[in-house]
Amino acid sequence: MFKSVLIANRGEIACRVARTAKRLGLRTIAVYSEADAGALHVRVCDEAHLIGPAPAAQSYLVIGNIIMAAKKSGAECVHPGYGFLSENAKFAESCAQAGITFVGPPPAAIRAMGLKDRAKALMEKAGVPVVPGYHGDMQDAKFLKQKAYEIGYPLLIKAVAGGGGKGMRRVGKHAEFDASLEAARRETKSAFGDERVLIEKYITAPRHVEIQIFADTHGNAIHLHERDCSLQRRHQKVIEEAPAPGMSAALRAEMGAAAVAAAKAANYAGAGTIEFIADGASGLKSGGFWFMEMNTRLQVEHPVTEAITGLDLVEWQFRIAAGEKLPLTQDKVPLNGHAVEARVYAEDPEHGFLPAAGKLAALDLPVGEGIRVDTGVETGAEVTPFYDPLIAKVIAHGKTRDEALARLGDALDRTVALGPRTNIAFLAALTRAEKFRAGDFDTGFIDRNLEALGAVPQPLDKAAVALGAARLFARDAARIASVTEPEPDAVPSPWDAGDGFQLSGARALSLPVMADGEIVTARATYGKNGPAVSIDGISAANALAVETPDTVFVWHKGRQTKVSRLDFSLLDAGDSGGGGTVRAPMHGKVLAILVEDGQRVTKGQRVAIIEAMKMEHSLTAPVEGVVSGIAVAENGQAAEGARIMTIEPDKKPQD
Ligand code: ADP
Ligand code: ADP
Ligand code: MG
Repeated sequence: MFKSVLIANRGEIACRVARTAKRLGLRTIAVYSEADAGALHVRVCDEAHLIGPAPAAQSYLVIGNIIMAAKKSGAECVHPGYGFLSENAKFAESCAQAGITFVGPPPAAIRAMGLKDRAKALMEKAGVPVVPGYHGDMQDAKFLKQKAYEIGYPLLIKAVAGGGGKGMRRVGKHAEFDASLEAARRETKSAFGDERVLIEKYITAPRHVEIQIFADTHGNAIHLHERDCSLQRRHQKVIEEAPAPGMSAALRAEMGAAAVAAAKAANYAGAGTIEFIADGASGLKSGGFWFMEMNTRLQVEHPVTEAITGLDLVEWQFRIAAGEKLPLTQDKVPLNGHAVEARVYAEDPEHGFLPAAGKLAALDLPVGEGIRVDTGVETGAEVTPFYDPLIAKVIAHGKTRDEALARLGDALDRTVALGPRTNIAFLAALTRAEKFRAGDFDTGFIDRNLEALGAVPQPLDKAAVALGAARLFARDAARIASVTEPEPDAVPSPWDAGDGFQLSGARALSLPVMADGEIVTARATYGKNGPAVSIDGISAANALAVETPDTVFVWHKGRQTKVSRLDFSLLDAGDSGGGGTVRAPMHGKVLAILVEDGQRVTKGQRVAIIEAMKMEHSLTAPVEGVVSGIAVAENGQAAEGARIMTIEPDKKPQD
């Protein structure tokens, strides 16, 4: 076994790999960007090396910097985690050249599976069923359209170099093909620098069922059963479980054998996942599954496999990289109970799942029987716009699927994350969704049930606002009581008027607060029992409130409400004059400014594109008018709330 490992990753997966490495007695070496100097993964490792500025392209993706840190620290091996360089054949080769073992498959296997078209061709040769479609070299638009016609609609256009659901377009009918192809090419070119696509039949009622495989360097390969990852949004996994609902032992053996054949065809070694798409229209069945792609690394959702097998997959990765044989034969792989994982993200399900960022004012993660939590952050940590906004993975194990889902729901109810908005309430609702509970779901389930899952704009939680406002009032009352002389440089604010505080008897005071971006009037009445605050007659909730210097975060029924004093300096002329200030919804990079100064735009017209959290967001004109004062340049950074440009609304004709 190795004596030391450099973990070329961050966040929860770096912490998770370090845990096993420590148990095996390895010295753990972290790498970190400037944004991560205080991160948990840096503290849990024995030593840490700075590898560059915050953007991943300048730190976690720079092969040279990571190899340098590995050499400096004398690391015997490198574990890449997932994402970043984990599926980068050049990185694996660079490690080998530096005399450091890459904990992963051989570079040739990464290459063989890296491009979806080549992988599919290889699988066909190995006799593994692939999704019907076209994955040849011809990329002429007319030719592809003809192929699409032959394959039939609906179909999927996929980026050959794709990953993370990017560059993928579902096409419903022939008339939409040209526009979809163009859009897919544009997206895949900007994401992967490669505009080649393939076409696949769209499987109806699709279930994503994947097989965890392991191979050693002695020619042995086995599988560790399946995972069902059909609860998805934008082709990205949200909740994963093992085993798959409705899976029979015979079908498991059939899919497992196909996956092992796939691994052998790629001369694989280490941990890998074969992703299949299954037609779930009438339940999982023999012959009803097709190869989609292979992920040549540890998967985000590997803990559900660990839960039902009782194995440590990271330990297996280390053992195989060290040249050991697979620890078990196929017939000895355990399968106990059922496990479900939920990905807790900093994002706002009520507003299109927009990624969120900011300091975690509070983070309270659940403990309990059958509950495992993997995280890389803690209270006070910053969720930055530079990386994946995953806060934690909550994994529940139970004797049955029902028990596991009930435990997960309970655990999510006990989870508190304040600061950035999160998907916790949405995940909890998913664990209780009737049809999902009954095993009746496919990859379209979330999109079809957004409203029932609470993933639509919700009215302001007035009871929560009242509690937040009460805390702000109390704070001011305390401050006013302690200050006898006004401070000479104090900025006058209606908050400081304090006239309600000075008189005895029942007096009322109305003051505006900012609650989730809305201006709300809070009413405080002073009675015998001290002040009581209400909003439209609704009094304060009995809930958790966490105060930071300028904001009170209220956690009520699994949702956050953010209450702060009305900051008059934020209301600039552009916002209040009925005009159009276009602002960055979050910190990000300005990818494109689509208009020029002086140009006329209509309301809703796209005027700029911002990239944040690996996603593109279009900014639109809030009013019809003329563009004036573009404040940022393309490729520049924009802070959350920063003005991008102003649209001067049309003047009313003078009469
Ligand atoms: P999985 O099937 O395991 O979810 P994905 O390919 O979607 O795998 O990505 C795994 C994780 O790594 C996801 O959380 C994703 O957001 C993240 N990720 C993927 N690519 C990158 C990248 N280039 N840089 C940083 N994180 C990435
Ligand atoms: P990525 O590399 O982005 O993970 P995949 O090829 O694995 O791309 O596809 C991602 C998701 O898209 C799948 O999990 C599945 O939900 C959906 N998908 C992919 N191919 C098909 C298909 N042929 N029919 C229906 N859904 C599909
Ligand atoms: Mg995939």
